[in-house]
Amino acid sequence: MDKCGCDRRGFLGHAIGCGAWVALALTAGGATARKSQARTLSDPVVTTPFARIEKLAEGVWAVVSTPFLPDGGRGDRTTLSNGGIIAGRDAVLVVEGFNTPAGAAWLSDQALALTGRRPTHVVATHYHLDHVGGLAGFRQGATGPELLMTARTGSLSAERNGLAKPAEGSPFAKAPPVLLPTMVVPEGEATLDLGDRKVRLVARTGHTDSDISVEVDDPRIIFGGDLLWNGIFPNYVDADPLKLSTAVKALLAEPSALTVPGHGPLASSRELSSYQGVLDAVEAAARRAHAAGLPLEQAATSFTLPASLGAWTLFNPVFYTNAFRAWYRVLG
Ligand SMILES: [Zn+2]
Repeated sequence: MDKCGCDRRGFLGHAIGCGAWVALALTAGGATARKSQARTLSDPVVTTPFARIEKLAEGVWAVVSTPFLPDGGRGDRTTLSNGGIIAGRDAVLVVEGFNTPAGAAWLSDQALALTGRRPTHVVATHYHLDHVGGLAGFRQGATGPELLMTARTGSLSAERNGLAKPAEGSPFAKAPPVLLPTMVVPEGEATLDLGDRKVRLVARTGHTDSDISVEVDDPRIIFGGDLLWNGIFPNYVDADPLKLSTAVKALLAEPSALTVPGHGPLASSRELSSYQGVLDAVEAAARRAHAAGLPLEQAATSFTLPASLGAWTLFNPVFYTNAFRAWYRVLG
C-alpha cells in the first residue's frame, strides 16, 4: 500500500512522455443529439458550454460532455468524452484524460472545488485521443496525479497517438505530450483504495484492444468508457465486435446499476438495453450482408437502425462504415 492507500500489487511504475496531437474528425450531430445530450438524471452541480457535472452519490460525480450546439451543430469539444470524479478520504480518482489539456485542467479545478483536493489519480479507459489527449492538463507545475492505464493502452497510445502530426485547425500551437502510465493496471481486475471507498478497475476488450471499466459497488455505478454509448452511435474504428458484445453483456448484467457511458447521457443498465439493441441490429445486418456477398460500402450505406431503438446520432457519417468494416473483419 502506498501513502494513498492504493493497492499497488501488480502495478509497475514508469513514465515516458512523447508524442503529438491529432484532432478527431467528428461532424455535427442533429437535433436528436441536442435533445439526447440535454437529458440529465439530476440537477447538474456545474454546467459549462462543453460539459456538465452530475452528482451520482456521496463522493461520486459524472462528467457528461455536451459536444453539440443548441442547433445540433458541432459545439465546444474541450472535454468531448464523459468521465468522472470519485473521492475517498485519502485520494481523489478522476476517470478519463479528456480531449484537451484545457478540459483536464478544468476538471482538476472542479475536483478541487467539489472534494477539497486536486486529483491524486487519473485513469484512462483506453487510448483514443478524446480520452487521453488532455492528460497533461492535470499537471500542476512539476507535479501531477498518478496516471493509470493498462500497459497495452500505453503502448497503443504511444504507437498511434505519438506518431501523429498536429492536425489542421488544432487549437494547439504544438502537440501536447502523450503521457504513458505511472501505474500500470494489470490484466484482470485491480482495486484502488481511496481510503473509505474502493474502486475496481476491470480490464476488458472490445472497443479497442484494451479497455477498462471503472466500477463502484455501493451504490453500483459503472463508468464504462467507450464500451458503453447512449444516444450516439458507437465508434467501431478499432473494435472487435464479438468481444465488444461480450463486454457489453457483462457490463449491463445488473439492470439497476447506474452507468456512465463514454458518450451520451447517464442511464441505468436497464435503459441501455437500447444500446444492446443497436449492437445487435448492426450484427444482424452485417451478417446478412456478408452472407449475401454485399460489398462493405454498399452494406453500410443501405443500413438504418430500427426506429424502435430511438434516436442514435452519428458523430461522423463514416461510423456505419466503420461498424460494418469491423464485422467484415471478423466474418472473414
Ligand atoms: Zn474510444
